[in-house]
Amino acid sequence: MTGFTTRAVHGAADGKDVHGALRTPVYDTAAFAHESSLDIQMAFEGKKAAHSYSRISNPTVSDFEQRLRLLTGARGVLALASGMAAISNLVLVIAGAGRNIVTSRYLFGNTLSLFQHTLGPWGLETRFVDMTRPDEVAAAIDSNTCALFLEAITNPQLEVADFTALGTIAAEHRVPLVVDTTMVTPYLFPAAKFGVAVEVISSTKYISGGATSIGGAVIDTGVFDWRLLPGLRAWAAKAGPMALLAALRRETFRNLGACLAPHNAYLQSLGLETLSLRIDRSCENALDLARFLDRQPKIVKVNYPGLAESPFHQLARQQFGGRFGGVLTFALADRQSCFTLMDTLGLIRRATNINDNKTLILHPASTLFCEFSAAEKEEMGVTDNLVRLSVGIEDVEDLKVDLLKGLARL
Ligand SMILES: *Cc1c(COP(=O)(O)O)cnc(C)c1O
Repeated sequence: MTGFTTRAVHGAADGKDVHGALRTPVYDTAAFAHESSLDIQMAFEGKKAAHSYSRISNPTVSDFEQRLRLLTGARGVLALASGMAAISNLVLVIAGAGRNIVTSRYLFGNTLSLFQHTLGPWGLETRFVDMTRPDEVAAAIDSNTCALFLEAITNPQLEVADFTALGTIAAEHRVPLVVDTTMVTPYLFPAAKFGVAVEVISSTKYISGGATSIGGAVIDTGVFDWRLLPGLRAWAAKAGPMALLAALRRETFRNLGACLAPHNAYLQSLGLETLSLRIDRSCENALDLARFLDRQPKIVKVNYPGLAESPFHQLARQQFGGRFGGVLTFALADRQSCFTLMDTLGLIRRATNINDNKTLILHPASTLFCEFSAAEKEEMGVTDNLVRLSVGIEDVEDLKVDLLKGLARL
């Protein structure tokens, strides 16, 4: 098989474009005409592969899905309107009232809010465990567990779990291991190798090519036998190994309507082509900056899995191909120091979002986690003196100059 970047650039081109366009055009259309009544009937019955309506499928979106499938060797890929759409659609298809999801408190804030506040009242139980303690994880799983869910690198704690251990627990208990791989993408993390059943990803981040658009994907790696999950047994009888993707495409995703717009799929495919180059650069910059910040006397602590003193250094090295991601955090004396530093920066922008081409800085406690109580923030390791830096692809020396200017004000 060709290399990752070659596949990312060439995609699954089948040469079928009527004009021979080298890039799949943006099919900005709601519906598609069929040759005959029988054709449209067969398309609706799923007996003939054809696009009918863009909420359900669209050629530009399919091109993006096929590129992701080619890159990951996955069983199937579904692209959606956002990372949150990917997570909510997946959970709605595998979970149900009376079922539980075993996860960590170290979760993207909106994911935590989805589990607890949106789906809790519908009967989903969320069980929190420490993902770095496999015994605790195993003990929380029971016959009503429908997923073991965690993030590849948690944000902003930057915790990395042992995926070999978690994959083994998931296999033993016959529950799907679901990992949000937004921070690493399939370029750094070969999910299937670690027993991950499903990857959910916000393609808004690295994949979009520099924060061009919002998007997400559900990737069925092919690891899990969907006959084992009660909620998907009927779909497995109908669609075999494609049960998860069929249940999404022909029911949950179709009914919820969070489809990816064709124009955004085009932007995301474009971003996918340069994914490896941008990740390499941003990870190199992040490692360089982490070491640089670690030497600054006004910084209390730098958290980055790439630093040898990080408790997650070895696991990150083994699991993410020697790269450590583009996000680091550091602690200053207090909240005011964080604000002063941030307000002094010129090149580095104050913004939410991660894995942009531009370096972005944020104070998580007062923004992403502002709706959580002080006690909840404490449990989530989001302290008031913490700053998050999402490192871009700029010339790293320029970033250092900017940060030194900010530190000089403290
Ligand atoms: C941003 C993000 C999401 C949500 O993705 P959207 O595209 O913003 O909906 C989910 N998980 C992680 C880890 C993220 O960083």
